[in-house]
Amino acid sequence: MFDSLSAKFSSAFSSLRGKGRIKAGDLDEITSEIRSALLDSDVAVSVVDSFISQIKERALPQLDELNKSTNPSQAIFNIVNEELVGILGGTARRIRYAKKAPTVILLTGLQGAGKTSLAGKLAKYLKDQGNTPILVACDLARPNAVTQLQLVGDSISVPVFAPEPGNGVGDPVRVAKDGVKFAAEKLHNIVIVDTAGRLGIDAQLMAQAKQIRDAINPDEVLYVVDAMVGQDAVRSAQAFGEGVGFDAVVLTKLDGDARGGAALSITQITNKPIMFAATGEKVTDFDLFYPDRMASRILGLGDIQTLAEATKNAFDGDTAAKLESKFASGEDFTLDDFLAQLEAMKKMGSMTKLLGMLPGANSGAMKKQLEQFDDTELIRTQAIVQSMTPLERRDPKVLNGSRRARIAKGSGRAVSDVNSLVERFTGAQKMMKQMRSGKGGMPAGMPPGMPQFPQTSGANSNKGNAPKAKKSRSGNPAKRAAESS
Ligand code: GDP
Repeated sequence: MFDSLSAKFSSAFSSLRGKGRIKAGDLDEITSEIRSALLDSDVAVSVVDSFISQIKERALPQLDELNKSTNPSQAIFNIVNEELVGILGGTARRIRYAKKAPTVILLTGLQGAGKTSLAGKLAKYLKDQGNTPILVACDLARPNAVTQLQLVGDSISVPVFAPEPGNGVGDPVRVAKDGVKFAAEKLHNIVIVDTAGRLGIDAQLMAQAKQIRDAINPDEVLYVVDAMVGQDAVRSAQAFGEGVGFDAVVLTKLDGDARGGAALSITQITNKPIMFAATGEKVTDFDLFYPDRMASRILGLGDIQTLAEATKNAFDGDTAAKLESKFASGEDFTLDDFLAQLEAMKKMGSMTKLLGMLPGANSGAMKKQLEQFDDTELIRTQAIVQSMTPLERRDPKVLNGSRRARIAKGSGRAVSDVNSLVERFTGAQKMMKQMRSGKGGMPAGMPPGMPQFPQTSGANSNKGNAPKAKKSRSGNPAKRAAESS
């Protein structure tokens, strides 16, 4: 995410870091480097100029004072960080729920921005929070938009109100109105209304959006923006804001090679906060937007908080409790436990994405390794363990040659893959024993010593290329990240 911008920020600060004393000229130099980095990333000129002058206005008068501190460059870095958080909106903004249910959320934006996908992502997120959302199919213009919404709804078990087939047939205002009424009758506490977009902001799009808005009086109008489009997206948001109005922005396609222009300009230009971010095509590729976490990523500090939350969510409940009590009671850590860990890791989503949240993930060597990291390796490792009998999982010592050959065949891997997994597992088991006997630290969240990047060699493996985590005492990725930061 915003790799090139992030690399330029890092390079600007690396030249400042070596200096024991920072002069006004140094400040000019770094701000001019930051200025061109932001402009190269397609951030609006007005936003860049006010950002740079804010930094100078704050830093210049206190330069003498800052130079007395042990780390003046860190003080400048902190100012830049705070200003960056500021242009990203300052504090996080969350959905305002209606006093009387249902809360109505209207999704607007250009065609292809990711509204229909977002409707599903948002519905899943809200459902996971204990809500009972319903989706309303009012994009009756784009071919297959209604079917797409129905499929998304089915995949997350959220009902879809779709009385019209779409593809140019049906009155979206009527559907929106009926949908909200239906939701209230059926006691859904949230209604998400998907609307049609256009290729550009035009009078017809605005008129229809206004009609729908007036008919259903939404609690939140969210404008969905494709972050890859850059400043054009910001301009269309501005036009829509002036013509129709909206409450908050959702940025989509942040997983692509978006340069940062839309994300960094939109709040300042439209005066509206960014509420959510979509980072992929899957229904789980959805995050709440936190300005401070985004600033941290742009500045190369990673996003440890999100990573820690993902770990905590995945390992919460039974798995973590069972594994921890096993560890505490001195029971052997078995391949069945390993399987439970792999399941939990799968729940965390893409490892590449998660590891990308580590500090320095955008920097040269680590970035290259991450690009080569193969997410599907987790599934392949799981297949090997699943091909073992309960006895083999409990006691890998019984794994003789013929058993290994059978497992390799059953999982579609090479015997060398099975060998390498067993070897790493035995090593991890040994390490856990040592830790238990007081030669290591207690794990947080999950037992330590597991292979951090489940890999086996083979045709599709990236042996030798996967990022090797620094030797860490913790098996918890978030904790390891904290250790290395
Ligand atoms: P709509 O016309 O606004 O309803 O747009 P869609 O929801 O149909 O999305 C348009 C295309 O963008 C589809 O191919 C989606 O799979 C894709 N898409 C949506 N959100 C994201 C995202 O966050 N990342 C990526 N890579 N693709 C996305």
